[in-house]
Amino acid sequence: MFIDVLTIFPEMVDLVTGWSILKRAIDRGLVTIRAVNIRDFAADRHRTTDDTPYGGGPGMVMKPEPVVGAIEYAKGTRPGRVILLSPQGERFTQAKARALSGENHLILVCGRYEGIDERIRAFVDEEISIGDYVLTGGELPAFVVIDAVVRLLPGVLGNEASTEEESFAGGLLEYPQYTRPSVFRNLPVPEVLLSGHHAKIQAWRKEMALKRTKKRHPALYARYLREKEGAGHDG
Ligand code: SAM
Repeated sequence: MFIDVLTIFPEMVDLVTGWSILKRAIDRGLVTIRAVNIRDFAADRHRTTDDTPYGGGPGMVMKPEPVVGAIEYAKGTRPGRVILLSPQGERFTQAKARALSGENHLILVCGRYEGIDERIRAFVDEEISIGDYVLTGGELPAFVVIDAVVRLLPGVLGNEASTEEESFAGGLLEYPQYTRPSVFRNLPVPEVLLSGHHAKIQAWRKEMALKRTKKRHPALYARYLREKEGAGHDG
């Protein structure tokens, strides 16, 4: 997979390329992550990327020419899906991450200032929000998307099963996990996990995932029940 991050702060991209699983994925050629500096597509000597809003109001607005120039440059290298990070976009989910992991080239456009000139939206395939809050720029949201997508690419995680069992994958939050020691500050690991009885462990994990999802994420639990019921009718 090829990922372009269109930003006025290209150095920020080092945040996701330099460590851990993403760095390994890059080193092994499973993904290429490139920063495209929007300033390089500004027409003036000062490489201006913002201007005051028509009609007045606070803050500055990202100019269309450099952003669209950067999008066209990225698309020119290979066809790609253009995604604008925006608090006004569709909420990012694990299902979305899974869908995007099937793309060949993601072009992530990071807004800054008070936002972007509305006409930029005509050059974008979709908008993604990482939650109902406003950040100062689209870089952190882009990194959230990159992290969630890249770990789903085949070969990136050592154990493929780990993305199948974790939260959201099966429509539920993940069951509680424990590691050594078996007792920590008087807190024991549940007996069943020490039993070596595979079927019992699976049953306990399922039960815990159901309980946990019902308590912590009732909407997800309701959807799980609906889908389970639907599958029952179909089958
Ligand atoms: N005034 C804009 C609005 O109300 O929609 C918000 C602009 S925000 C200060 C600057 C940039 O940060 C946005 O253009 C977007 O790229 C990014 N951003 C902020 N919050 C975000 C979120 N929750 N999800 C995705 N991107 C976000």
